[in-house]
Amino acid sequence: MYTVAWVDNEKCIAEKGCRLCIMYCPESDTIMLNETTKKAIVIEPRCKGCDLCKVVCSTHNAITMFPVDPVTGKVILGENVSDEVVPMGQAYAG
Ligand code: SF4
Ligand code: SF4
Repeated sequence: MYTVAWVDNEKCIAEKGCRLCIMYCPESDTIMLNETTKKAIVIEPRCKGCDLCKVVCSTHNAITMFPVDPVTGKVILGENVSDEVVPMGQAYAG
């Protein structure tokens, strides 16, 4: 399973001039300014899931990585795998 970036329009401040994710994304034409909403938007089929946009947006935390269903190709919203943390000691449970 792979992941793609997703922008929360409620948190994105692109309308105030922020372009950090757009500047830092290593893939061309992958995260762009939506001229209608004035928010950043991810062109999902082009996203390589590298997390860089999420890192540079850490102040506003507007970007989340979501897994993509390998069969349907659809983003599985709500299943955030990039923030998954394995609790210490879990490997030894039981
Ligand atoms: S870095 Fe974050 S706040 Fe800035 S344009 Fe990208 S998603 Fe929006
Ligand atoms: S995860 Fe990587 S490839 Fe995808 S939009 Fe963010 S910076 Fe670009």
